[in-house]
Amino acid sequence: MAEDWNSRTKAVHSGTRRSQYGEMSEAIFLTQGFVYESAEAAESRFIAAGPDEYIYARYSNPTVTMFEERIASLEGSEDAFATASGMAAVSGALLAMLQAGDHVVSSRALFGSCLYVLEEVLPRFGVEVTFVDGTALDQWQNALRPTTKAIFCESIANPTLEIIDIVSVSKMAHAVGATVIIDNVFVTPVFSDAVRQGADVIIYSATKHIDGQGRALGGVILGTSEFIRGTVEPFMKHTGGAMSPFNAWVMLKGLETINLRVNAQADTALFLANRLCNHERIRRVIYPGHQSHPQHALAKKTMMKGGSVLSIEVTGGKEGAFRFLNDLKIAKISNNLGDAKTIATHPGTTTHQRLTQEQRDHLGISPELIRISVGLEDPQDILDDVLSALA
Ligand SMILES: *Cc1c(COP(=O)(O)O)cnc(C)c1O
Repeated sequence: MAEDWNSRTKAVHSGTRRSQYGEMSEAIFLTQGFVYESAEAAESRFIAAGPDEYIYARYSNPTVTMFEERIASLEGSEDAFATASGMAAVSGALLAMLQAGDHVVSSRALFGSCLYVLEEVLPRFGVEVTFVDGTALDQWQNALRPTTKAIFCESIANPTLEIIDIVSVSKMAHAVGATVIIDNVFVTPVFSDAVRQGADVIIYSATKHIDGQGRALGGVILGTSEFIRGTVEPFMKHTGGAMSPFNAWVMLKGLETINLRVNAQADTALFLANRLCNHERIRRVIYPGHQSHPQHALAKKTMMKGGSVLSIEVTGGKEGAFRFLNDLKIAKISNNLGDAKTIATHPGTTTHQRLTQEQRDHLGISPELIRISVGLEDPQDILDDVLSALA
């Protein structure tokens, strides 16, 4: 039975649909529309489309369905809706379920665009948002109200790599009937245990580890069939955030190798953390898989490895950080993550530039903080690259 498969088997086989040609590799159905055998067939499909009956690619498409079923089976969720980007997933999940008068509690340490949606967009439509320090359970408890409709957080915050205790936060949120929405990008589908921990809705930017090779944008919302088909799908199919069939095919093929890639990246990230933690030009290494991380015990309990991203604080302020970045040869200066190529980012001047220095200080984003998304290169070569840039 497909449900009994282990995750590496699911990542390769779940959701596959074969056409009459019996193709081995999944087909790209690069079509917006579908032909009906008769006017009556068109009418009945518009009344209620059956399984594997399609109408228009903004609603769904066979290649997109394959991706949705494969990622849902990997995550252990009932269903999934694929979106044009990670942000289409975040904004879509929130806007599909919220209305004026609702209250949301969110952690403050968020990806810049997520913060924009929660801080700028939702209040314009009459949704009140309270921000908390995601690691402080008492702040979550104090912020929750009987009218709280949803809570939102990134399970591992970018770029400070603080971990949210999803089990405890979910218990508190569920006590007031709030939906728990988790942006799980940094945990990755490989190390996620979010459904068992109590998350109701799980979101990935597929642009990151699911593609894993820096090619295409995509996102996905995972949840119960009732939430995905009853709440998310009507909103997404009429507002236009659907994933393209070509991108769905890229993501589908990405899932086939995600387990091997992300495990290798996490092993290299731990190797780097171990080798760099006592370096004289590094003030601090932040990696959830390393024993020096303040929440290492929580990381060990809730995810299998520490993820593919580590952050370091170098000495010498912003100048020191820029000198380090400019001296890297293998690692590229960019802002994506989860790529096969190692990527170094200076969050203070790029991804989190929009914030004030005070807000950055509050989040722990110092001028010397550098985020490293560990790629698939030889671990020793990446270490040598980092060491020579530090020298
Ligand atoms: C990248 C990212 C997003 C947005 O994804 P896109 O595919 O770029 O739209 C959302 N949340 C987190 C944590 C991310 O890292």
